[in-house]
Amino acid sequence: MTEQVTRATFDEVMVPSYAPAAIIPVRGEGSRVWDQEGKEYIDFAGGIAVTALGHSHPTLVNTMREQAGKLWHLSNIMTNEPALRLAKKLTEKTFADRVFFANSGAEANEAAFKLARRYAFDHFGPEKNEIISFYQSFHGRTLFTVSVGGQAKYKEGFEPTPGGIHHCAFNDIEAVKALVSDKTCAIVMEPIQGEGGIIPADKEFAKQIRQLCDEHNALLVYDEVQSGVGRTGTLYAYEQLGVTPDILTSAKALGNGFPVGAMLATESVAKSLAFGTHGSTYGGNPMAAAIAEAVIEIIDTDEVLNGVKHRHQMFVDALTAINEKYDVFKEIRGMGLLVGAEVKEKYAGHAKDFFSHASNEGLLMLVAGPNVLRFTPSLIIPDEDIKEGFARFERAVAQTVSDHQ
Ligand SMILES: *Cc1c(COP(=O)(O)O)cnc(C)c1O
Repeated sequence: MTEQVTRATFDEVMVPSYAPAAIIPVRGEGSRVWDQEGKEYIDFAGGIAVTALGHSHPTLVNTMREQAGKLWHLSNIMTNEPALRLAKKLTEKTFADRVFFANSGAEANEAAFKLARRYAFDHFGPEKNEIISFYQSFHGRTLFTVSVGGQAKYKEGFEPTPGGIHHCAFNDIEAVKALVSDKTCAIVMEPIQGEGGIIPADKEFAKQIRQLCDEHNALLVYDEVQSGVGRTGTLYAYEQLGVTPDILTSAKALGNGFPVGAMLATESVAKSLAFGTHGSTYGGNPMAAAIAEAVIEIIDTDEVLNGVKHRHQMFVDALTAINEKYDVFKEIRGMGLLVGAEVKEKYAGHAKDFFSHASNEGLLMLVAGPNVLRFTPSLIIPDEDIKEGFARFERAVAQTVSDHQ
């Protein structure tokens, strides 16, 4: 029944939209992963900021098994216990009063952008439809989300894309002021840009964006698909910015690897997704919802969230020490366990080299664009794994430096 799969199989049967690494991971436990050959890796990536409680977390495995023995699926014409339990948790723990469930970050954002347009349409008419977003931002790969996203390469060749979307520089309030008007229905931002290079929003900028939204009756949409669910040391990053959005999207870590997305909104805004305006067959699937509820229960505790702060410091200290020795980073930045290290000019365009050597040394990590190394480990990664991971990373850095000599 099981045919041997190799890296070459990918090139035979898959659309070539990805270029996976040579290694083939087959098993994971906590922050360690093993490949087909039995080689062990320390996981500083967590997928891409997804497995926030590591691999095969026993509580999540049990939750999944239990739900799998009860009920896998319900249509949206039925009341769904796990989905409503999760929605209750999310609304109790955040600014939001209402939830819409999806299966991915892009779908949660699709719902958010549609809601923003629909709310403006309901209250101010069809002319108020413009969306302001930021260069380098990333919101997913559907046509609407690549259009709101600030990376031109993801739109190329897929035009015509939805209109009425404007972009400007992140953390530049004057640039936003030049675009905002009474036709603006929403300003969309990541509280910390992830794919764009681990760039946190300035607090002052975030506050002024909120103010501009209020002045122009525009909604503030926070994409917390990467920054949410404890990643930055609070359940959601907005809590640290002193700004409350009208709509927030969550995915990635929410299911710890099981596909689920959520759009959260205030009551008055949510009203505009009236009966029949939006939907999803799988959104709020009982399996996904049961797992996500367990994820939130585990992560939203002092133990885990304070642990993120402690581990953040370990990552920053380790990266700083390596930098003192090898002089490779221009800046080390980030929030919680969303940590970026931007490489110096000498290594510009070569973040991938560090990544490849790390993989050979038995360390899984990520890049965010051509110049930034990205670290998004499990929020509960043991201290020993962090130390061992950085011992491996240091060897990878030494090799990269010697390649570039
Ligand atoms: C990953 C990501 C998305 C897209 O999520 P998918 O689940 O891949 O659709 C959207 N926004 C941000 C900020 C992300 O990091």
